[in-house]
Amino acid sequence: MTRNYPHIIVAKFGGTSVADFDAMSRSATLVLADKHVRLVVLSASAGVTNLLVELASGLESRFRLDKIDTLRTLQYNIISRLKQPEAVSQAIDHLLNNINRLAEQAADSRSDALCDELVSHGELMSSLLFVEVLRERNVEAQWFDARKVIRTDDTFGCAVPTISDIAELSEKHLRSRVEQSLVVTQGFIGSDAAGHTTTLGRGGSDYTASLLAEALQAARVDIWTDVAGIYTTDPRIVAEAKRIDTLSFSEASEMATFGAKVLHPATLLPAMRKNIPVFVGASSNPSAGGTLVCRDVPEPSRYRALAVRRQQTLLKLSSINARPTPHFLAEIFGILSRHEIATDLVTISETSIALILNATGSTSGEADTLNSALLSELSSHCRVEIETGLALVSLIGNALPHSPVVYKDIFAELEQHPVRMICHGASSHNLCFLLPAEFAERAVKALHRKLLE
Ligand code: ADP
Ligand code: ASP
Ligand code: MG
Repeated sequence: MTRNYPHIIVAKFGGTSVADFDAMSRSATLVLADKHVRLVVLSASAGVTNLLVELASGLESRFRLDKIDTLRTLQYNIISRLKQPEAVSQAIDHLLNNINRLAEQAADSRSDALCDELVSHGELMSSLLFVEVLRERNVEAQWFDARKVIRTDDTFGCAVPTISDIAELSEKHLRSRVEQSLVVTQGFIGSDAAGHTTTLGRGGSDYTASLLAEALQAARVDIWTDVAGIYTTDPRIVAEAKRIDTLSFSEASEMATFGAKVLHPATLLPAMRKNIPVFVGASSNPSAGGTLVCRDVPEPSRYRALAVRRQQTLLKLSSINARPTPHFLAEIFGILSRHEIATDLVTISETSIALILNATGSTSGEADTLNSALLSELSSHCRVEIETGLALVSLIGNALPHSPVVYKDIFAELEQHPVRMICHGASSHNLCFLLPAEFAERAVKALHRKLLE
């Protein structure tokens, strides 16, 4: 039976919020400040997943040992600040030994399943340490292995969660724990039906938090990060970017999909399904407030935000015949579907199709989106051109195709930019430009100045 505890808050802390002992202590204070926070979802400490991804690529021994030393130092910098380091040091040593063994295996024969097993150790370590930080504040927190409830398919690196299984497993294994005490678990990681560890793609801890909030019918998800909310664009690119106090689910989801790293692209899907508000704030400065993402916002404005998605590949496919057959599009999309290539932006002219491919996996780079089997099958049907090193700049807003002024505003600003592709019309909420990556920040700055300041 699904029960509804309307006051559970799921709080997620990102990498910088658990980067070291001081950050963990601030995050612990935030957890303890609100008695409705019953479930804490943690990322790996900042930098740890990157190190694990490097180890998963199969490094030769001296580089491997070097990275493992760095990992050990990061963990022991936290452990050494605990009053009772021995309470957790053995468990962390055990995980560090596992990492060493798995990294050795990866150097021998790398597999996607092995990568996920290896990178999961970042969240396993941070969650063990955080439980100890809470215990030293006299709070009995239970460590919980997220893989018991986050059931996914076996697409290692960007696994797809099975919502009904997560609901059932959470009722069975998690609900009663959350009712009894504070529970600390890992973001990002899950397991397939055979029990193999999987991951949800880089930044996936946000998604874990909203999946568990959905399963527990929580009242709110709090995403604690290093910025005091969601801004009109990445404040690292534009210092004048302003915080948006309230955003609708669809606006925030659009931002996340098109590259606003502050939220994993899928985070808002579970929240939308169950109408659970999502708050985003800075764990180092909670009094600065943040952004509330909810179902409706009063009078959303035409221009809301700009986002950038990097590591984009443009795949251009042209019919060999001057007049393509009526089956041309079906054939091309059939091939892409057989090779499980997903694309979210496409333009089509009489004889050509241009598609944007996005690298989404936990350990994948731009090159991994295309493989030789796919390219040789495509080449037997059409001419294939590939462009890499691109970035997608997206303007997010409302009713964009219905406002002629939009084009005047934008094209004047982009006059000097070599735009490779424009996507507009299918969605009322975005207008996207593909550019060589080195032009992306300049375009964002120019558009922000014109439209959002
Ligand atoms: P965490 O480790 O807490 O998950 P992330 O690094 O994944 O943090 O996300 C926070 C970062 O997202 C910020 O430091 C900021 O640079 C970036 N970011 C990108 N777009 C936006 C935006 N529109 N508003 C706020 N932050 C953004
Ligand atoms: N640790 C993972 C990453 O760095 C997941 C996350 O932080 O959300 O991508
Ligand atoms: Mg993140």
